[in-house]
Amino acid sequence: MSEERADNPKKYDYIIIGAGVSGLLTTLMLSKKGKKCLLIEKSNHLGGVCKAEDVKGYCIDNGPHAITELSGGPLVNLLERYCNYNIKFIPHGNYYMRLKSKFGPHLMPVPNNLTRFARANFLGKKDRLLMVKLMGEALTNNIVSPEKNNMSVYDALVKNKLSNKTMIFADTICYFLSGASMKETSINRVIEGGGFAPSKKINKKHSDKNKIMEKMSSITSLKNFQNLIVNPSEARQGYPVGGLKTIINAICCSFVMNNVDIIKQTEVDKIIVDGNSAVGVSTNKGDFFADKIIYSGFMNKLPEMMEDGILERDYIENLLGLIPCKSYTLWLGMKPCKYFNYTGSEIWFEGEEPFWAMPVSNYDNTLAPKNKMLVGFTTVVKDNVDDTKKRLARTMEYVYPGIAEYVELKYEQVEVPEKAAIRINTVLPKTKSPVENLYLVGTDTERKSMGLTKAAYSVINLEEELFDE
Ligand SMILES: Cc1cc2nc3c(=O)[nH]c(=O)nc-3n(C[C@H](O)[C@H](O)[C@H](O)COP(=O)(O)OP(=O)(O)OC[C@H]3O[C@@H](n4cnc5c(N)ncnc54)[C@H](O)[C@@H]3O)c2cc1C
Repeated sequence: MSEERADNPKKYDYIIIGAGVSGLLTTLMLSKKGKKCLLIEKSNHLGGVCKAEDVKGYCIDNGPHAITELSGGPLVNLLERYCNYNIKFIPHGNYYMRLKSKFGPHLMPVPNNLTRFARANFLGKKDRLLMVKLMGEALTNNIVSPEKNNMSVYDALVKNKLSNKTMIFADTICYFLSGASMKETSINRVIEGGGFAPSKKINKKHSDKNKIMEKMSSITSLKNFQNLIVNPSEARQGYPVGGLKTIINAICCSFVMNNVDIIKQTEVDKIIVDGNSAVGVSTNKGDFFADKIIYSGFMNKLPEMMEDGILERDYIENLLGLIPCKSYTLWLGMKPCKYFNYTGSEIWFEGEEPFWAMPVSNYDNTLAPKNKMLVGFTTVVKDNVDDTKKRLARTMEYVYPGIAEYVELKYEQVEVPEKAAIRINTVLPKTKSPVENLYLVGTDTERKSMGLTKAAYSVINLEEELFDE
């Protein structure tokens, strides 16, 4: 360890600000590499957004979670290398559209590949053909002229005069993939978030196979087309047995405890900079110093944690332009209900309030008391929570006639599923900040994929930045 400071007897190799999944994975990785870490969290719990609570015998996650890119992806990669415990993931199953016809409500797989588009008769024949044509064009552009895919989904669709229903369908998918409307979502984001783009290569500098693949980037890109025919993204998604708390517990219990100090209920107010180098943090419990600082909170809060003049104006403006997206989730604890006898999740896009629902107890029945089930319904808050809540309640009564008879528990959550919605001109900050020895991780530093997978990618980016030559 390097020289200690008189005013602070303990000097760390790393201070990690924030104990969400990205801060915890960072602490795990660094502690396993023998680094002395101080993890500082402002709340009273570890896990950030990724947490669960026990409510009347139900184990309720903070929002329904389908974890993307599991096999061969960044989260499993980190867990396999650093975690002492095996987490079992149950395959997600299908993403369904919930539809309503004169025969009553029914489910159909979300059209995310050619075969499914061909069968998605709820969109009308002409619209389906046009959508397939547009997807083919977008994937071609992705290889030959990617800048064309910076166009908004709305701009790409509107000139084709698609039906109102198809436009609403596209808007709903955009909100779920980017946290923003189709006017603000680029085609690129749909390709990245919808599983059409191949996964990012992990540990590329350590793998000869991946080096060769990098050189053959045009062949890699052709995978996009395979993905259009059989989109494999669903098959790589899953839900952890025991719920989200299993992931958090497994990570925290794998820390090399001699290398990690944790302080909760302590907010970092300022990052202390000496010259142009981050050297410590200032909190209500005093100042702490380390060789390197890793920040995993909201990137749009970083400017207020730095003294004036340290970050350049353009950099600050870009960070302040990162806008979080808000969600409202209603969890229902229920008697077994006929509408939810499947494994997977469903999207409702018509009518007043689009939503995504996931019967999580179908993955693991210990999440609900015996003979009960637990289903989460989430929607993006576009205006305000009260109106969203009322619209969702009305929509659910319409979509699932008689559902109220099954319901025994209602539990609400208002949360931030995306620290930065990925809008057309969104530029996320890089892992290495302009301040020496200050590094950034978290879902608002990585575009690829969704939530926990983004968080894991960001930690792999950090690992490459710190330890690869
Ligand atoms: C309704 C809902 C549904 C979701 N669905 C999915 C899904 O299906 N799949 C998926 O992968 N993900 C999903 N997510 C998203 C996923 O949970 C988050 O993206 C992920 O947990 C964010 O991790 P993070 O570490 O980047 O940030 P956070 O969890 O926000 O962690 C940041 C931590 O830093 C702390 N902090 C911030 N500033 C300071 C400071 N100054 N000092 C000290 N501590 C600080 C915070 O208190 C927090 O604990 C969903 C989220 C919600 C809400």
